[in-house]
Amino acid sequence: MPEPKELSDAEWRERLSPDQYHVLREAGTERAFTGQYDKHFEQGAYRCAGCGEMLFESDSKYNSGCGWPAFTGPVEGDAVEERRDVSHGMIRTEVLCSKCGGHLGHVFPDGPPEQGGMRYCINSLSLDFDPKD
Ligand code: FE
Repeated sequence: MPEPKELSDAEWRERLSPDQYHVLREAGTERAFTGQYDKHFEQGAYRCAGCGEMLFESDSKYNSGCGWPAFTGPVEGDAVEERRDVSHGMIRTEVLCSKCGGHLGHVFPDGPPEQGGMRYCINSLSLDFDPKD
């Protein structure tokens, strides 16, 4: 497999469903409360749906009520990148997969205070789940 960051637009369109392509490659957002992992609280790990990189673990997932999967933080290391996003008339911090550059969601400073205070608000479409065995 070529390095994910080298894939062409046509290759991404082949690898991803149209909905996944829209979120991961065009920084789209799935409609609130529609994602398959919004109300999903099994034990396991969440990988990037674009490249398979391990991004989040179920231990950091919580029910924020916002309509998207919410995590208090990513796995240790540099799995995700954060960057300032001024689109749609808002100042937000975008969260991307550091391996493939895919858009995952945004991070907001309104998470559980006792767990660091951050809410990583992530699209289900950007994730694949590996149940813990
Ligand atoms: Fe990725």
